[in-house]
Formats: sequence, C-alpha cells, structure tokens
Amino acid sequence: MTKAQKKDQKLISTNPFEIAQKQCDNCADFLNLDPNIHAIIRVPKREIHVSIPVRMDNGSVKVFQGFRVVHNDALGPAKGGIRFHPHETIDTVRALATWMTWKSSLLNLPLGGGKGGVICNPKEMSMGELERLSRGYISSLWQFIGPEADIPAPDVYTNPQIMAWMMDEYSKIAGKNQFGVITGKPPVLGGSLGRGDATARGGLYVLREAAKVCGLDLNGASVAVQGYGNAGYHVASLAGTLFGCKITAISDSRGGLYNKDGLDPQSVYEHKMKSGSVINYPGAKAISNEELLELDVDVICPCALENVITEINAPRVKAAIIAEFANGPTTPEADEILYQKGVHLLPDFLCNAGGVTVSYFEMVQNFSMYYWDEEAVYERLDKKITAAYHSVLNTSREYKINMRQAAYVVAVKRVADAIKLRGWV
Ligand code: GLU
Repeated sequence: MTKAQKKDQKLISTNPFEIAQKQCDNCADFLNLDPNIHAIIRVPKREIHVSIPVRMDNGSVKVFQGFRVVHNDALGPAKGGIRFHPHETIDTVRALATWMTWKSSLLNLPLGGGKGGVICNPKEMSMGELERLSRGYISSLWQFIGPEADIPAPDVYTNPQIMAWMMDEYSKIAGKNQFGVITGKPPVLGGSLGRGDATARGGLYVLREAAKVCGLDLNGASVAVQGYGNAGYHVASLAGTLFGCKITAISDSRGGLYNKDGLDPQSVYEHKMKSGSVINYPGAKAISNEELLELDVDVICPCALENVITEINAPRVKAAIIAEFANGPTTPEADEILYQKGVHLLPDFLCNAGGVTVSYFEMVQNFSMYYWDEEAVYERLDKKITAAYHSVLNTSREYKINMRQAAYVVAVKRVADAIKLRGWV
C-alpha cells in the first residue's frame, strides 16, 4: 500500500459494530421494517464484561478482560464462538454477535446470535495458562450460558481442546455432564464428526452452486486463500479434493505466497507448522496480503479477519467470485463497488455458516445421545446451506440488490416475524 492509500484507509470507518448497524439500518429501510423491531435488532440484548484472574506459570496473577454478548434470542438460544485475540474489542464482539443472529436465521436454525471474546495472546501462553484462562472464563460467566440459553463454540484462536476444558468446567459447576453447553468439542466428548472442517466445507458447497450460476468450471479454477488458520487450511485442501481447484496463492498474518501452477495445501501447512508461518515456503513468489486480494484469479477466499476489502482496493479486485469465509472482510462501500463490477460475492453469514450449522447438529446429537456418521453430517449440511444460497440468490434477483443485502432481507424477516409473534412489539 502507498502512503496515500494508508491515509485514505484510516479515514474509512472500520469499526465492525458501526458497519453491522449500518447494514441492519439499510435492511430495515429497505423492508420498511416496524421501527420498534428495528430498535430491538440494532443493539445487543445483553452484554457481560468480566475480569478473569489467571495464575501464570511464573507465579504472578494476570487479569484478562473477557466479554460475552447476546445479540438476539428471538428464534432460540443464542449461539456463537469465543475468540482469544490480543486486539479483541467489545465492538468487534458486538458486531460478530449480531452477524451470528443473521447467520442462524438465514440457515433456518432454531438459534439466536451471540459471541464472546477474551483479550489475550494465546501464542504467548503455555497450555496450563490457556487452560486456567478457559476455565476462568466459564466460572466468571456460567450463570449466563447453558444449553437452553447461550451456547459458545470455537472461533479465532480457540479450538476443541479449549471447548473440552470449558465444557468440563461448566459440568463441574452444574454437578453433572452438560455436553450441550458448548459445541466444537472433540468427538470423544460429544463433538460432532465433520465439525472440524465444517466452515470450509459449507462455504465450498455454496461456491459449487455459485460457480454453476457464473458458468465457472471449478475443475482447474484458480483460487487465492487469505489466512491459513482452521478455515483457510481446510478451504485450500478441500477445494482441491472436492472440485479439483488449483490453489495459486496462500497467505497468513505475516505475508503470502504465489505460484501460478498451484501450491500443495498440505505441504504449505506442514511448512507453517514447522516455521510458524507460510512465508519462505520454497518454490513460490512472496506476495503481500494486499496483493493476494488483487490477483488475477477466479476466486478469492478471505479467511482471516475483518475489513480487508475496502473502497480502496475493491476497484482492483479481478476475481469473479469472492467467498467470505472470514466474518466481516468487506466494508459496505466495497460491497457496492463489487456489485457494480459484477463480482459474485458470497456474504460471510452465508458462506461461513457451515460451522454453526454443524454446531447445531452437534447440539441435536448431544440432546438425543445418538451420534451420526460423517456422511449424514455432510449431506444435511449440504442440504441446508444450498437451500440458503438459493434463497439469497433468488431474493437478490427479485429485488435487484446485492447478495449481502439479499441475505439480510431473508435473515431479518425471519427474526422480525419471531419478535412479532412473541409479542415483543
Ligand atoms: N465461530 C463460528 C462462527 O462464527 C461458529 C459458531 C458456532 O458454531 O456456534 O460461525
């Protein structure tokens, strides 16, 4: 980025909660929504701030700030992940909780939206410290979560082991096993098969449908993947095995790689595990994260953090399809530019909804004590997410609005109906 571009970038509001509210306001205007319903859905229903004292390995006590936000539970108990991130903010958690409401609604799940976060740097913490922080988070918040109230799950820098500690802590407090309090657990503790790569798989089913609509043959199609965490790694490897896509670019927070003949996702992953990053992978050209988004490829997959596609770089995007596996990667200004350019954008709360959909399946399995095989999970996920894509596409065509606006229309309508029927307004 040039200096001038960096300056421009600062002038654009990138507060995720302001963006989430703006998107909600636009949809309310468009639907001519009852102002009382609009007032309810533009703010979170509840937010809890906690200070969590954790004994560190050197004997000192460090106090971590944590949050849990419930945006809306009109459709059912709140659902959404917990992020462990050094730059976590309450506004990011509010935005992500809001997007979870729309995600659950769009996928027709009997769930609302929530999200949690802790300001911490898990890369600098030992396993023992992480375990004490995870248990501390639950013991600070346990009154407010539960299988029928608010069900957390993994998100940025949290994983099945952390979910296992959290479930165990909650179960100890409850005095009985409570597998249904959290999802994304290891399968031996009530986790669902297929949950590990569900976010990637769900979005790839959506990409398969989108490619048909765009007339793009995915076999041999070039794909750039930004971010190489759980979602990014599984997107890169499954896009090849499911459809024969060629992964020509991969990046992580430290930089990116490009090879026009394709990269081997597994060997890039092994390189990252050994060295801590995808950078310096042999046989590829070094590129920046900004350059990756502007590559001449068929599909770009933002799989990392928020606000990476803005009005500054959107005019330079060359891909035919953007599959948003990350939450909030595109600003509203960029949305409009991409729509005018004819880019087919698969909005985050559709494209990355595979995770929460399989989380919902995990809850169903926990409640019924009967566990499904992988094929049953994949088939049910495909059915739900493919239906959601087509309802968004049809709405976008019917009203001549972009795919994100269309996703909002479908999702907000359902929540608004529930609010009305409950008699909240
Ligand atoms: N953290 C994931 C998301 O943003 C999954 C949430 C869940 O499984 O509840 O969708």
